[in-house]
This record gives sequence, C-alpha cells and structure tokens, in this order.
Amino acid sequence: MIVDKVKITIKAGDGGDGAVSLHREKYVPKGGPDGGDGGNGGDVVFVADSNMHTLMDFRFKSKYSAERGGNGGKRFMRGKRGEDLVIAVPEGTVVTDAESGKVVADMRPGARKTVLYGGRGGLGNSRFSTSTRQTPRFSTPGRKTKQHEVVLELKSIADVGLAGFPNVGKSTLLSCLTSARPRIENYHFTTLHPNLGVARIDDTSFIIADIPGLIEGAHEGAGLGHDFLRHVERTRLIVHVVDISGCEGRDPVSDYHAIREELSLYSGKLAERPEIIALNKTDIPGADENAEAFRSALPESEIYEISAATGAGVKELLYAIASRLKDIPEERIVEDEGVVEEWAINDSGADYTVSVEDGVYVIDGSLVDDIFARIDPNDTDSMRHFQKLLLDYGIIKALKDKGAKDGDTVRMGLEEFDFLE
Ligand code: GDP
Ligand code: MG
Repeated sequence: MIVDKVKITIKAGDGGDGAVSLHREKYVPKGGPDGGDGGNGGDVVFVADSNMHTLMDFRFKSKYSAERGGNGGKRFMRGKRGEDLVIAVPEGTVVTDAESGKVVADMRPGARKTVLYGGRGGLGNSRFSTSTRQTPRFSTPGRKTKQHEVVLELKSIADVGLAGFPNVGKSTLLSCLTSARPRIENYHFTTLHPNLGVARIDDTSFIIADIPGLIEGAHEGAGLGHDFLRHVERTRLIVHVVDISGCEGRDPVSDYHAIREELSLYSGKLAERPEIIALNKTDIPGADENAEAFRSALPESEIYEISAATGAGVKELLYAIASRLKDIPEERIVEDEGVVEEWAINDSGADYTVSVEDGVYVIDGSLVDDIFARIDPNDTDSMRHFQKLLLDYGIIKALKDKGAKDGDTVRMGLEEFDFLE
C-alpha cells in the first residue's frame, strides 16, 4: 500500500468592509447614512472526486484561498459574497489539521465538507444610526481570516502494473511514462519498495508499478514478497511489455504467452485484469515486421508500438492507459476507524468542539468568545442573530450530529440554554 501525504495551506476569504456613505440628493442638505455592509468571504470546501487517484496536483500548488467578500457601497449596497473555493481530492483522502492532528474531513465517496468559513462582512455606517447619532461616520472592517495548514493523506494501490520478461524495457518505460515529474521519493512507501511512478496527463494522474521478474518463479513465492504480490494483484490494468525487436533471439509471440501463463498461475484474478500490450524497442531494425506478425497472431488485443528509449509512441500509450482506467472501477481502501468529525475551523481561525457532559451538550473553543463578543443576550434582535450564527457556523448541525434534540441543554461558556432546532 502506498501512503501519499501532502501538506497544503488553506484560507477562507476575508470579509469585505462596511461602507461609510451619506445619502446625497440635490436640494436635500443632509441625507442619512446609507453605507452598505461588506460581503462575506468565500468558504473552503473539500469534495471527493472519483476521477482523481493521487495527491499529485497538490505538489504543484500548495496554497489555496477562497475569494474575499466585496466592500459595501453607497445606497445600502451590500458587497458581493466571495466565491467559495472548492478543492477536489481523491476519494479516501483524509484531511487533518496540521497543528492539532484532528481529522477535519474524511472524504468518503460523495463527501462534501466545508472546513473553513469565510470572514463575515463588516457593517456599513447605515447600521449605526440611532436617535442620538444620526450621521455615524464609521463602519466596521470585514473579518480577516487566518490561514491553516492541513495534511492530506491518501492510501492507495497502483492503478497499472507493468508485466513482461526481464530486459524487455519495463523500467525504462516506467521512467519514461513518469519522467519530468516530481521526484517519486516524495511518496512515502510503507510496505515494500516496488518500482512506482506517477504518470500525469491532462487533469488526471495514476500510479504505475513495475512488476519486476514476475516470470522468475513468482507464482511459487520466490523472489517477491507476498505483500508486493498482493499489491500488484489489485492493480486495475496490466500493461504487458513485449520486446518486439527479437534482438535477444526470442520470439515475441511465445514470450507473450509465457507471461500470460505465469500471470494466471500466480493469480486468476490478476490474469483477468484488462490488458494493453506495448510492443517495445520499435527503434531496432526488424521490429516492424515482427510487430505485424504479432498483431496477426493476436488480432483481438489492444496493441501499441513504442520505443521506451526514444519516447516514440509513449504518449499514445499513456492516453490509452488513462482512457481505459476511466472505465475500470477502483478498489478503494477505506479504513473504518469510526472517525468522529465534530469540528470545523471558522473565520478568524476560531474553532469549537462539541462534547456531551452528563447529558449537557457543551460547546467549547475560541469561537464561543468570538460569538459572545458579537451579541447582546438582552436584546431580541441580537439573539435572533445569535441563532443565525450558530446555524452559519455549523454548530446546530454539529449538535444534531451528536444527538441533541429539542429541549436538551446546551452550555456555551457560562450560558446555558435549551436546544431548539
Ligand atoms: P526491464 O528488465 O524490463 O526493466 O528492462 P529495462 O528497462 O531494464 O531495459 C533493458 C535494456 O533494454 C536496457 O539496456 C535498456 O536500455 C534497453 N531498452 C529499453 N527500452 C528500449 C527501447 O525502446 N529501445 C532499445 N533499443 N532499447 C531499449
Ligand atoms: Mg527492470
């Protein structure tokens, strides 16, 4: 199993600033304040994408931020809400907060999870007029969000296995298919150290494993460790490499059958995998005639002619692999450890946790102070706003997930209140 791990920085959008504006009209000497509120910043959302197979993309780009909210305008114009930033990750990716190590999102198939909420927009000066202060000349700035480091981790198996006799060019092809790409050592391999590479075309990437020396008695367990064979058994597609030059005095067609035989002796499952044949070493004279003979011997097969040495035909092969993989479902490694997702990081980096203590639902964390700083418990409007904040920050949902029902007691800081959906 391959454990792929990357660290990225994410940031929700800052809130837009509230505006200061005084209504102006011809012949009206003193208009009222009409500065609008700033828009909220965009959220950072992770989605599980079944077309992604590696965390490769995150090695090219490691900083992600959602859009800032627009500033408020005159005539009560509210600033535009910042666009959410949606980050696609492969199914099975687990996102943890780099600092605390807490799981932020467990990206099962179909998962979509907001992990950072955008900063709230500031208030325009129109919000601050009172009977005694008719022309407030101030507004509040949007809330600035903090950036967070998160670790993405994906456990996966190779998508493609390269099979073939020794010296047919498997290693050369592997380095050719996966060349000019970030160093493979960046991948953390747990079990064995099979020859692995990550190939990338267009917007997809996949893992290729060399199956070295399969022919050398592998089905008897010689040479290769069982872990490795089990790994190889789960690859989705086999690229069968054949030396078509016949330069070592061998017959390509009988080589092909010998490897097929070996595959099925080792594992029926492996032998049933879809296969693409790569006729290699076409740069060597005589290869063309051999290739023609090979094609007529195996008319049903999907065959590509390549030279791993010169790179000829390799790109076509790569596209063919990618296109076949699209139709072959993956065996996902989903480990059920009962991960409890109970928190999200909010604007300004404030966070919270929800726990249950003696039947009381306790909301704790820096967000609690943050919310109390913004409300007045004696004011009905303010308390309505409080409800909305709880909803916006996902606290209501977190409480429900924990099992809270109408009438249950919720404690936040020193305050206790009844839970009402
Ligand atoms: P493996 O044992 O299947 O991994 O084969 P290697 O990749 O180690 O290649 C064996 C030999 O064949 C090496 O000397 C390579 O340089 C050579 N080779 C591989 N591909 C080509 C090719 O397309 N053309 C030619 N002429 N030689 C190749
Ligand atoms: Mg090799």
